[in-house]
Amino acid sequence: MNGTVVDFPAGVVHGTGTVVDVVPVGEKVGVITDRTPFHPVDPSWPDQPADSGTLDGLTVVDCLVGAVDPDGGVAVDTAITARRGDEGYQWVVVHVVDGPSPTVGSIVDLQVDAPRRSALSRAHTGCHVSALALNAVVADLWRKEVPLDGIGNPDFDRIALTSSRMTPDEARDTYRLGKSLRKKGFDSAALLERLEELPGLVEAKVGQWVAADASVDIETAGPHLTDLRYWCCHVPEGTYRIACGGTHVTALRELGQLHVRYERPDDATLVAVTTVGG
Ligand SMILES: [Zn+2]
Repeated sequence: MNGTVVDFPAGVVHGTGTVVDVVPVGEKVGVITDRTPFHPVDPSWPDQPADSGTLDGLTVVDCLVGAVDPDGGVAVDTAITARRGDEGYQWVVVHVVDGPSPTVGSIVDLQVDAPRRSALSRAHTGCHVSALALNAVVADLWRKEVPLDGIGNPDFDRIALTSSRMTPDEARDTYRLGKSLRKKGFDSAALLERLEELPGLVEAKVGQWVAADASVDIETAGPHLTDLRYWCCHVPEGTYRIACGGTHVTALRELGQLHVRYERPDDATLVAVTTVGG
């Protein structure tokens, strides 16, 4: 079996695919096709949830990643033990349906829930621009040299991010502010003193990029699920480039109104909640 060819990085929401295998997923059926517009949730970094939609009219209740071993056995989602790049493995999209399984070799119609996909794409792009604007507005709080982002600010987002979760039109990014970050040279206390001003500063920075009509594109190293992909955003200061397997809008003006607020679930954690649309 070859790895699945994926069309979601180009923003595609509809297509057809040939069924290459059908596997059990719990009580349900996992349908693997040669190509698909469906975005599966990534088991190792589940930031953007699976697309929903239909497969030949059947409801796709979940969409997962599968790893096919050299003998043709398929491990799904968190049962996967192989790593990307392991010799002999192929990586596939598994459409989980609740209903009669289509036969191997048949051609099926694949329709993603387009409004939900659009809202997840807005959330994902909003997540990245909110984070990059945060990099810019806390750039003066680093006391040591650390890796920089695409336009030369210390990359707080990459260094401090511990989890990221998107829902339609909202992203929640969790950052660690504790001892390990302070050891890297970040002045967490100064950030907390600035906490009330942060939303306004971040929204103003994003506003400048929207006013400049910043565009977004996805660079891909190949057509398959596990080929490397990069989110590229072209702002007046330069180009941001982030490794990313999700879906996105093509210009920041499509985000609508972006708002951000910061929550403190505990002393060592900052959660950025970015909402878009509206
Ligand atoms: Zn991303």
